[in-house]
Amino acid sequence: MNLIPIPAFDDNYLWLWHDGQQALVVDPGAVEPVTQVLQQLGLKLSAILVTHHHADHTGGVDELRRQTGAVVYGPVAEDIPAPYIGCQGGQSFDACGLSLDVIDVPGHTAGHIAYFAAAAQPDPLLFCGDTLFSGGCGRLFEGTPAQMLDSLSRLAALPGSTRVCCAHEYTLSNLRFALAVEPDNLDLQRHHADCLRLREQGLPTLPSNIEVERRINPFLRSGLPAVAQSVRRQNPDAQTQVEVFAALRHWKNNFR
Ligand SMILES: [Zn+2]
Ligand SMILES: [Zn+2]
Repeated sequence: MNLIPIPAFDDNYLWLWHDGQQALVVDPGAVEPVTQVLQQLGLKLSAILVTHHHADHTGGVDELRRQTGAVVYGPVAEDIPAPYIGCQGGQSFDACGLSLDVIDVPGHTAGHIAYFAAAAQPDPLLFCGDTLFSGGCGRLFEGTPAQMLDSLSRLAALPGSTRVCCAHEYTLSNLRFALAVEPDNLDLQRHHADCLRLREQGLPTLPSNIEVERRINPFLRSGLPAVAQSVRRQNPDAQTQVEVFAALRHWKNNFR
């Protein structure tokens, strides 16, 4: 089985999973980059998974469905190109040889979902859209800090070996911010150096994995004293973990 990040636009990845014959694609914002890979590898697209309604994640859905007849899965609580099978947390379904569990992860958008394949080989797979990025998390367009903190906690609790397939290559700018939050975090320093090398070679920094994210991603670490202390130097009013998380997200929004 094979996992391919298809680059699109400035920094999107359209994740494609295939077994040599059938393929599924996640969040196809564009058509052309996907059909190119399908043709090159002689694959038939059988499923499309959508995590949330933003155009850079849904722009290619109608055309790919029309061209291939692929079945579309998406968040039941959001408006994405119909017809599609509406999914919400707690549901499971099979697509392209993967058994997928749906996880509700509101925050970036109100109905955002993630797809988790526990039995994928060689390691579990998580397609998390714009909720969890390597070293960061999505902006809060429709949800509250408390919702996003809760969503990220659910993802952080997945097995450490889970491959984290994020929808954007934001890693280096996220890690620059993470280093401002936790300058003494050795795992973070090492990971930053590794990712710099990958980007210099034009390679993706993804997939990451949950174990790495627990060690380096400040948005999964807002309950730790080192992160809370650092946030309170910016915003002394941040007391509870939700307040620390909210202040951390605010700090990142204004970080250059
Ligand atoms: Zn988005
Ligand atoms: Zn996006």
